[in-house]
Amino acid sequence: MPYKRILLKLSGNLFGPTNGSGLHIPAVETIANEVISAHQKGFQIAIVNGAGNIFRGRSRPEEFDPAAADRIGLIATVPNSMALVEILNSKGIDTRLLSAFKIEGFARHFEPFRARYLLNQGKVIVLTGGTGNPFFTTDTASVVRALEIKADVLLKATDVDGVYSADPNTDPSAMKYASLSYDQAIEKRLHIMDQTAFTLASENKLPIVVFKFKKGSIAKILNDTTMGTLITYYRDHKSRGKTKGEKNIAVTSIQK
Ligand code: UDP
Repeated sequence: MPYKRILLKLSGNLFGPTNGSGLHIPAVETIANEVISAHQKGFQIAIVNGAGNIFRGRSRPEEFDPAAADRIGLIATVPNSMALVEILNSKGIDTRLLSAFKIEGFARHFEPFRARYLLNQGKVIVLTGGTGNPFFTTDTASVVRALEIKADVLLKATDVDGVYSADPNTDPSAMKYASLSYDQAIEKRLHIMDQTAFTLASENKLPIVVFKFKKGSIAKILNDTTMGTLITYYRDHKSRGKTKGEKNIAVTSIQK
């Protein structure tokens, strides 16, 4: 098993209805079931969630101060996290909420030591409130937290099954990369995460797996290294096969 401790980044839209905004409990239930199936396989799971189903700072009304809008975004991560914690606990999975900022009476404050202790005890932890600072995203928060808790990998759940050479929805010649080094992703200007998050991950050699969130995907991806796209430091990158130079980048055809 290549990984033991994982940081799972779930964007806010996974917490909302298929076409719409807000917190959609059946969607959270689906997430919870996925987390449970991975947890039952013995993985240590920490989760960072977004808030795009409720509010994103960059989609603010013009008259809003950007930092104030980001604070709304930060707070908006909390109901998503709380709903997930609630459902996981109701299904018998001991889950704790740790927050980047004080929410007296609702969550303990995030501290790396406490987070690692809880993971070692077999608890699932949900890390809410992003980094706690405006001008960042929850992608950046997921990298920061992954590094703080010493996660083996960051799993980034998206609505496509990996990183493509072009948009697979509009370009039929788009090819999916099985793996990439950080440098290759930068050279090819592939958008995997926002730049701050990606730079931080690459500087600290944190492996990232981009995958499509669907039934069974989390548990599967942790054992099947051919799913999704792995982005990692060049040396480790060899573990996924052909890696030398541009022409040997491992690609697979589009899997729809
Ligand atoms: N946010 C922030 N600092 C952080 C994380 C998030 O200010 O460290 C704010 C920002 O406004 C962002 C919003 O919270 O737009 C929701 O996060 P994000 O857009 O990353 O959510 P996602 O796209 O994953 O749903």
